[in-house]
Amino acid sequence: MEKVVIIGSGPAGWTAALYTARAQLAPLVLTGRQPGGLLTTTTIVENFPGFPEGIDGYELMTRMQKQAERFGAKTSFGIVESADFTRRPFSLVVDGEKLAAQTVIIATGASHRHLGVPGEHELENKGVTYCATCDGALPGFRNQPLVVAGGGDSACEEALYLTRFGSEVFLVHRRDTLRASKIMAERTLGHPKIRPVWDSVVAEILNVTQDKVTGAKLKNLKTGAETVLPCAGVFIAIGHMPNTQIFKSQITTDENGFIVAGQGTTTNVPGVFVAGDCADHVYRQAITAAGSGCAAAIDAERFLTANP
Ligand SMILES: Cc1cc2nc3c(=O)[nH]c(=O)nc-3n(C[C@H](O)[C@H](O)[C@H](O)COP(=O)(O)OP(=O)(O)OC[C@H]3O[C@@H](n4cnc5c(N)ncnc54)[C@H](O)[C@@H]3O)c2cc1C
Repeated sequence: MEKVVIIGSGPAGWTAALYTARAQLAPLVLTGRQPGGLLTTTTIVENFPGFPEGIDGYELMTRMQKQAERFGAKTSFGIVESADFTRRPFSLVVDGEKLAAQTVIIATGASHRHLGVPGEHELENKGVTYCATCDGALPGFRNQPLVVAGGGDSACEEALYLTRFGSEVFLVHRRDTLRASKIMAERTLGHPKIRPVWDSVVAEILNVTQDKVTGAKLKNLKTGAETVLPCAGVFIAIGHMPNTQIFKSQITTDENGFIVAGQGTTTNVPGVFVAGDCADHVYRQAITAAGSGCAAAIDAERFLTANP
C-alpha cells in the first residue's frame, strides 16, 4: 500500500515527489513512457529560474529526479493502464499489476498536436517548435520571417508573442476567418507585423537536406496553388491533447479532456489531486507545472493527515 502515487515524471510529477518525500510520505513515481516528461525532448531551457546560462532539458529533469530521490521518492518505469477511484484505497493497474494507493497525484501532461507533414518531425528543434514562449527568443528566430500554423486563441497568442522577435509573422489558417475570440482576433489582425495567410495549410516544412528550417510550402485549399514562404521558424499551434483518457469516466474533465481542478489541486474525487499541463490549457510551462506539483503535494499531505 502506497501513501502517495504520482502518475507522471515531468516537472509537475518530480516536484510533487520532492515535497511529498520531504514530508516523509515515500511517494512512488510512475514515470510512464516518457521518463522526465516533455522537457527531455528539448535542448536548452532558458526560462526555468535558477539557471542564468540556461540548462539542457534532459539534465534539468535528471536533477529534479535526483533531488526527489535524495529525500526518499521511489521511481518505477511503469505505465498506468487503468484506475479505479470508486473507493479508498484507490487501485491502479500498472503494466498489468495492481497497485493500491491512499492518495494519487495525476501529473500526466499533455501532448501537442502535430501537423503530420513532411519535414515536421525531422526539423523539430531545428526551427520547428510547438511553443513560442519557450523558443521564440532563441537567436535563430531574431529578425527573421516566422510562420505560425493555426487559427485559434493559442495561435493568436503565439503570433503576437513572436512579433517581439521576428521581422514578420505569417499566420497560416485553413479558413478565411480566425477561430479565436473576437478581441484576440482583432488584436492579432491589427498588428502591423502579422500577415494572415487565409484558406491555406502548411503542406511541407523545408529544408530537411540543410537540417534547418528555411521555408514552408503552403497550399491554398480553395485554389490548390502551392507557394514557398521563406522563414526561419514554423510554430505549430493547433492544440494540445491532455493525457487523461484513462481517467475519463471517473475524473471530471472539460470538453477538451483537461482535468477540472476544484479548490487548489483537488479533483471531483477526494484524495485524487492533479498537477501540471494535464489540467492547464493556459500557461503550459515547466515552472507552472512545477508550482502546481508543489501545491498538489501539500494538498495530498493535508488530506492524509485529515483522512489517515
Ligand atoms: C519541445 C518543447 C520545448 C519546451 N520548452 C520549454 C521551455 O523552454 N520552458 C518551459 O517552461 N516549458 C517548455 N516546454 C513545456 C514544458 O515541457 C511543459 O509545460 C512541462 O513539461 C509540463 O510538465 P508536466 O509535468 O505537466 O508534464 P510532462 O512534462 O508532459 O510529463 C508528463 C509525464 O506523464 C507521464 N505519463 C503520461 N501518461 C502516463 C501514464 N498512463 N502512466 C504513467 N505516466 C504517464 C509521461 O511519461 C511524462 O513523464 C516545452 C515543451 C516542448 C514540447
